[in-house]
This record gives sequence, structure tokens and C-alpha cells, in this order.
Amino acid sequence: MAVEAHNIVGWKTVPADCAEYVADYMSGERYERDSGVVVDQAIAYAESIKVSGKGKEIWIFDVDETALSTLPYQAKHGYGAQPYDQTSYLQYVAGESSPALQGTLRLYRRLLQLGIKPVFLTDRTDDQSAVTAHNLLQQGYCSWEKLLLQPAGLQTSTQAFKTGQRQKLVAAGYAIVGNIGDQWSDILGSPEGCRTFKLPNPMYYVA
Ligand SMILES: [Mg+2]
Repeated sequence: MAVEAHNIVGWKTVPADCAEYVADYMSGERYERDSGVVVDQAIAYAESIKVSGKGKEIWIFDVDETALSTLPYQAKHGYGAQPYDQTSYLQYVAGESSPALQGTLRLYRRLLQLGIKPVFLTDRTDDQSAVTAHNLLQQGYCSWEKLLLQPAGLQTSTQAFKTGQRQKLVAAGYAIVGNIGDQWSDILGSPEGCRTFKLPNPMYYVA
């Protein structure tokens, strides 16, 4: 709870005291149920928007733990209780086997029906562009306005990168009607989007 409310930041691993709690939360029904509440709110909001018909309304989706789930990987690595191991994590991502978060896919499909275009904005690096696109397509994310990835070797924070990308989208004439992610760095920084939606993720923290 303290993590989700952004009261604890900058942590490296889930503390040993919390490991069992987080594993229970992620592997049980509560994670999906809490995510479903977020998605229900996002859909209700999206349905209330008057779309211009000019195709300029977009919705920003983060990828990991938002559009796609790395839960199969996390389950084998203590749900964040073990230190981050980049080699095995990148191998998992390269396998293109991350399942969709079903709630997010439900939101995505509704937005397409409403004429709001999805934009994926991720801290995955641009060398992961093809594997990310394949994985999204396989999981039912059939089209998008843009898939924006971080340049490899970028020196700024993810939050600064994502904020800069949203600024460029607005400068290009897009209206960011919504923004959904599992990290505060997905949804903080102007322009955030008209409304933001924060999915749960007690397993890891991206600044
Ligand atoms: Mg994420």
C-alpha cells in the first residue's frame, strides 16, 4: 500500500518481510480484481468523451505490467524479492511470450470502438522494438498509432523520457485523453493526459 501510494520510493527489492504478501497478492485473485477496478473506471471515462472524429484523440499505454504481463518471469524470481537480473529478464522479454493483462486488453478494444487511438510508450529500448511489436500482436493488440521505445543508452530517467515523448505528441496535434501505466513514472510529468490511471505493481519500481 505504501508503495502504491508513492510513500515509499527508490527501493531496490521487495523487503523480505513483504515477500510472501506480494507473492500472494500477485498470484491470487486480488491483483486481477484491483486491475479490473482501474479498467472499469478508465472505460467509463472513455465512454464519456466526445470524440472529434478527426482522429487526434490518443490514449497512452505503458507496456510491461500494463499491456503485457511479465508475471510468468516474476513468479520464478520471487515477485520482486530477488535482486533484478537484467540478463535473465531480457531473455524473457526476447521470448515474446508475455501474456496480455486481460483488463488492459478490454480497455484497448473499447477505445478502438470509440475511435480513440492507442499509443504504446515504454521504457523497453529501441532494440526491443520487433519483439515488443510481435508480442503485442500475438496477444491481441492488433494495431496502434505509435509504438515509442526508449533509445538504448539514454541518460535521463524513464519519467523524463516519457514526459518528453508526450510533449512531442501534443506538439504534433494529438490530444492525450488518457494515460495508463503501472509506474508513477508512466503518469507523472506534464502533459500527463486528461486523466491518468495507475495499475497496481508492488514488485518493482522504475524512476
Ligand atoms: Mg510498466
